[in-house]
Amino acid sequence: MSGSYSAQPGHLYGVGLGPGDAGLITLRGADIIRTADVIAYHAGTHGRSTARSIAAELIDARDDAAVEEQLQYPVTTGRPADYREQLAGFYAEATARLHKHLAEGRSVAVLSLGDPMLYSSYQHLHHALSEDFPTEIVPGVASITAAAAEIGQPLGEATEIVSVVPATADSARIAAVLDASDCVVIMKLGKNVEKVRTALQAAGMLERAYVVERATMNEHTSYPLADADPENVPYFAVSVVPSAVYGTKRSVSGVPSPADDAATGAATDTATESATPAVGEVVVVGLGPGAERWTTPEVTEELARATDLVGYSTYINRVPERTGQRRHLSDNRVEAERATMALDIAKRGGRVAVVSSGDPGVFAMAAAVLEVADDDMWRDIPVRVVPGMTAAQAVASRVGAPLGHDFAMLSLSDRLKPWEVVVKRVRAVAGADMAFAVYNPASKSRRWQIRELRALAMEYREPTTPVIVARAVGSEQENVTVTTLAEFDPDVVDMRTMVIIGSSSTKAYRAGKTTRVYTARHYGEGGTSGTGELLR
Ligand code: SAH
Repeated sequence: MSGSYSAQPGHLYGVGLGPGDAGLITLRGADIIRTADVIAYHAGTHGRSTARSIAAELIDARDDAAVEEQLQYPVTTGRPADYREQLAGFYAEATARLHKHLAEGRSVAVLSLGDPMLYSSYQHLHHALSEDFPTEIVPGVASITAAAAEIGQPLGEATEIVSVVPATADSARIAAVLDASDCVVIMKLGKNVEKVRTALQAAGMLERAYVVERATMNEHTSYPLADADPENVPYFAVSVVPSAVYGTKRSVSGVPSPADDAATGAATDTATESATPAVGEVVVVGLGPGAERWTTPEVTEELARATDLVGYSTYINRVPERTGQRRHLSDNRVEAERATMALDIAKRGGRVAVVSSGDPGVFAMAAAVLEVADDDMWRDIPVRVVPGMTAAQAVASRVGAPLGHDFAMLSLSDRLKPWEVVVKRVRAVAGADMAFAVYNPASKSRRWQIRELRALAMEYREPTTPVIVARAVGSEQENVTVTTLAEFDPDVVDMRTMVIIGSSSTKAYRAGKTTRVYTARHYGEGGTSGTGELLR
């Protein structure tokens, strides 16, 4: 209760005043200001004290005037040669003045802007006096939270990490912190705007960053850091990178959140809507196989709208970085974990693009996301699949039309299914005399399976059957060869390779320097040498 607490004789109080608005002084702080024998506050070289002015009404309303101790800094900005000595002298003198009051049994309240324990002038007195005299700290509303309130955007939601960084710190340390954080408050902005802007840009956070000047004081204002004039940012300013969890929210001061800009432009304007978190969603997209021009405009649009990208690092690295968009890279295993992560971010309001190569529904993330989403925990979260060109189409096009008639697509990986199943399916497809595209034919450690495949195919197909071996199609490393089953060397195959094995009606012929391959759409007499029978 206000008025129930009095400053005690000989006690030192570090009183946090909050960020500027006297209404944000705590009841406890007001009690101390009303009852302390001595009220001390720092002032700049100009002799004015912001702290004194915030507490003015309380001080001036006292019946018994307090002794006031103005602690006037000899230097604030600029670094004269004897800066350290001047400052040391000032500290010693200020300490001595307050020490005398305390030793003689007077209570001393040191006024402190924001919170006394956070980058404050009170701290040197605390170090010098708190061992000798009983000391109490009255915490205050820090500029950190005042700034978040000012822009009307949450600071730290769910599992986000919030960091507080003084702009005066070393650039490398700032970069390391930004890298490890979701949200940031940068204090002591003043003359360091350019340095901070560069660091946030490099961390992909600039688009989300604001400057808040004089939070809760007269003439308070906030604006995007990108628009700041480095020469004109005052001492009482912080930069805030708020939560990225909710997408389409507008701040109370009407500054659109960066996510709005990234969206279709259809911003929500009413007060009620702005208070409601956007419903998140998961969009599973495929980039196409290797070349940027094979990424559909629809996918490009979805990638631009997303607040978060989730996927195998090789694929995410194909997506241009966007400021303000978070990238959650993983290895190419643990698909279920990636799917869960995507759904979890969406549940908290994020617009998540799960990134696959090729088509997301072909040996890729779409099935994994849908499987994990089949659970009461996630069922309400919208999931969309946006198609992409699958590798088999790109590979086929390079040589002509080997998949021109009925065909199959198989993954040769036995990581997610037993090898016996693979064998059964290869036999079924080869036995049905279909051309087939083989995804995931081999990796560094998975080597014998492709040899086994060749042997299996030989049981059903003539040795002259065309085989296409295509590596990294669409990329600069593209390499495509047409060979025959007899001559096909399984050892050249790796993870970036696709193999297409023709049917009995797949023909290869030379035209100038190129080899063309097609599988006829008709199935006439004479066009079939294989009938699905085992060749024995
Ligand atoms: N979702 C992807 C397939 C992922 S499985 C799609 O629809 O294309 C990965 C396998 O696809 C690779 O092992 C390789 O066999 C094949 N692949 C993907 N991109 C390829 C490319 N550019 N060239 C050749 N094969 C490719």
